[in-house]
Amino acid sequence: MNTPGKEVLRATSTSPEAVSFTAAAAPVPLLDVNRQNHPIRDEIVAAIAAVVDSGAFLKGPAVQELETQIAELCQADHAIGCASGTDAILVALMALGIGPGDEVILPSFTFFATAGCVSRLGATPVFADILPDTFNIDPADVARRITPATKAIMPVHLFGQAADMASLEGIAAAHGLPIIEDAAQAIGASYAGKPVGSMGRFGCFSFYPTKNLGGLGDGGLVTTNDGELADRVRVLCDHGQRPRYHHHFVGLNSRLDTVQAAALVVKLRHLADYAAARTRHAQRYQHELAAGPAAEALVTPVEAAGCPSVWNQYTVRVQEGRRGALQEWLAERKIGSAIYYPIPLHQQACFAELGYRPGDLPHTERAAEEVLSLPVFPELAYDEQSRVIEALHGFAAAQSLPRRLAA
Ligand SMILES: *Cc1c(COP(=O)(O)O)cnc(C)c1O
Repeated sequence: MNTPGKEVLRATSTSPEAVSFTAAAAPVPLLDVNRQNHPIRDEIVAAIAAVVDSGAFLKGPAVQELETQIAELCQADHAIGCASGTDAILVALMALGIGPGDEVILPSFTFFATAGCVSRLGATPVFADILPDTFNIDPADVARRITPATKAIMPVHLFGQAADMASLEGIAAAHGLPIIEDAAQAIGASYAGKPVGSMGRFGCFSFYPTKNLGGLGDGGLVTTNDGELADRVRVLCDHGQRPRYHHHFVGLNSRLDTVQAAALVVKLRHLADYAAARTRHAQRYQHELAAGPAAEALVTPVEAAGCPSVWNQYTVRVQEGRRGALQEWLAERKIGSAIYYPIPLHQQACFAELGYRPGDLPHTERAAEEVLSLPVFPELAYDEQSRVIEALHGFAAAQSLPRRLAA
C-alpha cells in the first residue's frame, strides 16, 4: 500500500535503524491484566487456597471484608457484593421499584449495561446527551427530559471521572428523584472531595477484569447510605427470600463468590498505587501531547474542576474522519487502541422502537465518531508510553504535511 502516511514516514525517518527498531518492537497493548496479577500471584493464590480449605464458597468472611473495606473507601454506610456490575445496576433499580411505565434518564454514550438493565425491567431508558469536554451526561439535557414518568436519574462516571453531581443533585432534588451512580469505571474517583458511590441513593461498581479494581472474572457491588435499601438489596440478591423459603419479592441469585472476594481483597490493597500510576501516565500524555504536531490533530481529555479522574480510559478525540487512519497507524506500530463507544445506545438496533433519530444527541453522536482510547493501564512502561506519544506526533506530522506543502 502506497499511502501518503507511509511516504512521509520514510522521508522523515532519521535513520534506517530507527525504522527497523519500530518494526521489531514488542506490542504495546491497550491493557495487560497479567502484568498486574502476576507480581501478586502468590498473595492471590494463597487467599484463594484459604477459601478452598474453608469450604465457605458463598457468604464467606472475605465477602464481608471486601464490603467493609469498599464501604470505607467510598464513604458509604453500606456495601453489598453481587455477581456483576450489571447486576448491581439491576438490583439498585429493582430496590427502587422501577418497572413498566417508568422512565430512567441516563447517557447514551456508555456501556450497554447502563440502559440494558432499565429495559430488562420493562422500564424505558431515556437518553440524554453528554457534555463534549468530559463525555459525561449533560445536566441541562437531563432536566429537559424529565416527565411525570421519570423515576430515577442514572449518571455514569465515564472513563473514571465523576459526572457533574452538584447540578444533577439540584435537578433530582427539585423533582424528588433518586440518583443511581453507575460508578463501574470510577472506583476511587471523587466529586468535590466526595467519593463516587457516596452521593447517589445507590452507587454501582464492577470488578470486571478491565475495571480499575479488576477481579478474576465477574463481580459487582452496590453502595448506599440507606439502611432499609441496603437490606432490600441483600434480600433481592438472594431470591427475595428472608428467612429461607419466605419470598418477599421476586429476586435473583446474584452473589459475589468468596473466591472472587478473597482475590479482590488482595487487589484492593494495591488500588491506590494502580490509580497513582494511571494518573502519572495520563499527566504525561497531557503534558507531551499539549505541544508539537499532535496538539493540532488531537483533543486531549479534560478534567473538570473538583473531579480528579482515576483514568479507567485515556480517551482523545481525533480530527473528524482521521480516526481510522490513526488507529491503523498505531496498529502498524503494534500499539493498541480502542473505540469506547462506536455506536451510541440510542442508535442500537435493540432500542430502535424508542424512535431516536440521527442528530437527536449531537454531542454523543460526534463523540462516537471521534474518540480513541490509548494505553493508560498502571503497568504501562515509560518507554512504551514514549512510543505511543512518538507515534501520535508522527501521525499528526504526516497528516499536516500535504496541507503545509499546498500552502
Ligand atoms: C463495565 C460496566 C458495567 C457493567 O459491569 P459488568 O461487571 O461488566 O457487568 C456497567 N456500566 C458501565 C459504565 C461499565 O463500564
